[in-house]
Amino acid sequence: MTRRRLMGVLAAAGLGPALARRTIADEAPAGAAKSAVPELKLIPSSTAPRYPAVLSDGQVVQPQRPLPVMHQTDVLVVGGGAAGFTAAIAAARAGAKTTLIERYGYLGGLWTGGQVLLVISTHAKQNGQLKKVVRGIGDELLERLNKIDGAIINQAPGKHNPTSDPEATKVVMDDMIREAGVNVLFHCWVVDVVMEAGALRGVVLESKAGRHAVLAKVVVDTTGDGDVFAAAGAEHEQRLHAIGLVHRLGNVDRADKAKLKEAGFSSLGSATPLQSVTWINLRGPSTNALDIADLTRLEIAHRRAIWDRVQKLRRTPGGEQVFLLDSAPQLGVRTTRILAGTHQLTFKESREGKKFSDTIAVGGAQNAQHPEWPIPYGVLLPKKIDNLLTAGRSSCVDEKLIEDMRLIASCLTTGHAAGAAAALAVRSGCKPRDVDIPKLQKLLLDQGAYLG
Ligand SMILES: Cc1cc2nc3c(=O)[nH]c(=O)nc-3n(C[C@H](O)[C@H](O)[C@H](O)COP(=O)(O)OP(=O)(O)OC[C@H]3O[C@@H](n4cnc5c(N)ncnc54)[C@H](O)[C@@H]3O)c2cc1C
Repeated sequence: MTRRRLMGVLAAAGLGPALARRTIADEAPAGAAKSAVPELKLIPSSTAPRYPAVLSDGQVVQPQRPLPVMHQTDVLVVGGGAAGFTAAIAAARAGAKTTLIERYGYLGGLWTGGQVLLVISTHAKQNGQLKKVVRGIGDELLERLNKIDGAIINQAPGKHNPTSDPEATKVVMDDMIREAGVNVLFHCWVVDVVMEAGALRGVVLESKAGRHAVLAKVVVDTTGDGDVFAAAGAEHEQRLHAIGLVHRLGNVDRADKAKLKEAGFSSLGSATPLQSVTWINLRGPSTNALDIADLTRLEIAHRRAIWDRVQKLRRTPGGEQVFLLDSAPQLGVRTTRILAGTHQLTFKESREGKKFSDTIAVGGAQNAQHPEWPIPYGVLLPKKIDNLLTAGRSSCVDEKLIEDMRLIASCLTTGHAAGAAAALAVRSGCKPRDVDIPKLQKLLLDQGAYLG
């Protein structure tokens, strides 16, 4: 709508020119250049070939169609959570042309969008002392947050398991990704893969701009749900796990906690870097997080339960000022697909601290109560499909070790390793399964990672 037309509409509605001016001013972004593009544009019927699905004999059939190649890159990281973030930076810093695709409009995945704010397992207990296992890119991020007021707590030297503010984390992740020269594509959803002779050659994505292909020499699947390796036909396991919805409360510093305790409210959640805000972790039923009906049902049920609880809190003496700040934009999906890698790391191996010649990262302890555990390269490598790696919560571990592997700290370190391995494979002109392990370990150490 043009300015002249808006003025006319407001005047016809009995609203004066002053309001019309204010409305326009409120909507104009500060300092934005005046657009030369007409505000209303007629799109004529297209003569370009279209390939709509066809309903024929009761079956919906998608016709064969050529796909425009939007982009070509050396390393393609799909999913910008904790693992994808470190993978993309590691690959770019190792000299690979790197692209990161993320379905939402921010980085961090469950850590930021899921509002899971407590970074667990940053340290292990070695000879009675706390020892930091998250080093390199993950630690660099935590250290940068440490320098911003209100961005992170419990990050003093020697302390473990910090809690970060999700907005600060998103902004610092944006900065670091940009500085590393990673090409980021937000708001696109990878829906399929491009294969050539049994090896991965890229992905197919959907966005508001339609369906496109992105080609790559190596793809790192950090979707958390193994969307890429599943589409490529890689062997994997699928697991049901408690699905929650994290939320945050505001004004908790104005609550009378003693009164609330008397009334049966024992906790107002966990501390965040913002004094008046807490976050509340939630466990829900173990259902299939790949089933959209289940996800929809849970989203609605959790939201209602959270709302009712907070309303009850506000009616209780001592809790009147507390309010629901927000529920996480992302449902709390803990685990879905786990890759069947060339090495399945077991809980037993981890607790024995078994050493591997191909260690690419080191795991910590949830409450720094046990020693570190080396993580071998094979947990990231599919058994058969080439040009593909995974990292983060879909890495290959047995059922008991999932609880450790899916924590943010392990996602940061395995992501770092996968990105470095992908870049090294590109540089060496070999498949990820053939990379020279001592060279990979040297690259990781040069990038500040800890390998035990
Ligand atoms: C409720 C809950 C509480 C938890 N509590 C803690 C805790 O206190 N401390 C802790 O350390 N850990 C905790 N965890 C675990 C931890 O938060 C996650 O396992 C970890 O953050 C996962 O990181 P990731 O990078 O592997 O995956 P994700 O964070 O899931 O990132 C995957 C990214 O890929 C994107 N993506 C997915 N599919 C596609 C696609 N097809 N195309 C494009 N993009 C895609 C997603 O949008 C997302 O950004 C918790 C998890 C949950 C669910």
